[in-house]
Amino acid sequence: MAIDWREVPSEVLQSLKEKVATGCRILAKLELSDYLGHVSARVPGTDCVLIKARGLDQGNLLHMTPDKVVLVDLEGRPLVDDGLRPPDEVKLHTEIFKARPDIGAVVHTHQPIATVFGDLRKPILPMQGVMAAVLAKDIPIFESAVKIVTTEQGAAVARTLGDATVIHLRNHGVVTVGHSVEEAVINAIWLEHQAKLTLYGYILGQPQGMSREDLEQQVRDGGNTESRWRYYVSLLND
Ligand SMILES: [Zn+2]
Repeated sequence: MAIDWREVPSEVLQSLKEKVATGCRILAKLELSDYLGHVSARVPGTDCVLIKARGLDQGNLLHMTPDKVVLVDLEGRPLVDDGLRPPDEVKLHTEIFKARPDIGAVVHTHQPIATVFGDLRKPILPMQGVMAAVLAKDIPIFESAVKIVTTEQGAAVARTLGDATVIHLRNHGVVTVGHSVEEAVINAIWLEHQAKLTLYGYILGQPQGMSREDLEQQVRDGGNTESRWRYYVSLLND
């Protein structure tokens, strides 16, 4: 049974807002997003979501701050009268949260190289290292380039995503999910990295990608999300 967001300690809300803002800044720093794209997080125990507020008025995601994160319900309606508006595509996030109680965060970007693979319907191959773990499950393709603005469109994306970690929105971008903001953001970074290596592979020849067994081993090896997150956060100081 979900609790009311007002019962959530304010420091928990604040630290989640900071994480959402940090995730946005990391994605912008790595050029996976600009002023478009968004990070969202489920407020633990509630039916509420914190999401980067609407686009252009917020400027480049590189300058994203916690005070530009808006609290919404699962219909994408703002819950606090703080003057912030949710992004046009808030229902892309909320419908995925509805369909996937197992996940805690959603990232949507228009990251260029992964998007090209969606257009070509060519698989991004597990080319290298533990970062390939993001490709453990096949990536479904949502066959439309339109912005996801209605409940029906959001629900259709969530159905196509199923239990996968990544989905292509064809000629639009990608969505990655994770248990936490850290995981969802890192999945977007790793996806672009594998897409880049696959692209290099096609420039030079016919890339093969690692075997299923090796990929499964990379997934089992896992690793420490916290230390990886610290690394990506450290890039913001450079
Ligand atoms: Zn979009």
